Amino acid sequence: MLVPMHELLKDAEKGKYAIPACNFCNLETMYPILEAAKELHAPIILQAAASEIYYFGEDLMTGCVKAVADRMGLTVALHLDHGRDYEEAIKCLRRGFTSVMFDGSELPYEKNLAITRNIVQAAHAVGISVEGELGKIMGAEDAAFLESEEDELTDPEGAAVFARETGVDALAIAIGTAHGFYKKEPKLDFDRLQKVRELTHHLPIVLHGGTGIPEESVKKAVALGIRKINFSTIIRADFIETFRSFSTENPEEYGLMTISQIAMRKVKEAIVHCIELLGCNGKT
Ligand SMILES: [Zn+2]
Repeated sequence: MLVPMHELLKDAEKGKYAIPACNFCNLETMYPILEAAKELHAPIILQAAASEIYYFGEDLMTGCVKAVADRMGLTVALHLDHGRDYEEAIKCLRRGFTSVMFDGSELPYEKNLAITRNIVQAAHAVGISVEGELGKIMGAEDAAFLESEEDELTDPEGAAVFARETGVDALAIAIGTAHGFYKKEPKLDFDRLQKVRELTHHLPIVLHGGTGIPEESVKKAVALGIRKINFSTIIRADFIETFRSFSTENPEEYGLMTISQIAMRKVKEAIVHCIELLGCNGKT
């Protein structure tokens, strides 16, 4: 069953755990994520950015996720990751997504706030959740410079105003994580996270760039109120590396399904680990 993301986050808030939000672009990445959730009785968020939705098939994605989730008896939220404008968010509402993100972090604050608020109004009218973003979450290649760049991190007072004025259900913040592979170990600004949580009256907070954050930092972030952690790089990397190494070691193997299944198993193991780390196993 597809459910609005805020319903899953509400339970996560009560139970003080976080839910993995996993990017997928085809059936080979969708299945292992759902299988991991099923095996561990865990809530799960499937998410896709515009390019992933387009690759999967705009007219197919919602139907496939819903059919498989129903067949497996799972509770899943389907979320637009890094939506770029109002139109994209509305298209996803029409497609049957149960949550959308608007990433206006590149825009001036007032513009980000205005567009996010408009999307929240439209989405909430049909019971769909919205994730906003405040502060700039870097690519890992930029993150090496991030430590002293305080102004790129989320301002807690600004986050409080943004949350109140927009009515978002969840907020992605910049506290030192980045997308892609980290060049060096990320240092999370936990004081900033704690302040954001206090000032937003415990709004569910989202951490992007989940791949490669030290486990102790993940646990501490969850204890301080992170309720959704995004995983994308690990899914693609595990699939590709497993596929590549098996093919290299078995050059005569042309069984596409055989190799794909081995790669899918590896992705499933990775998601099982994420679910356990975030503490949402056994929560459905
Ligand atoms: Zn992201």
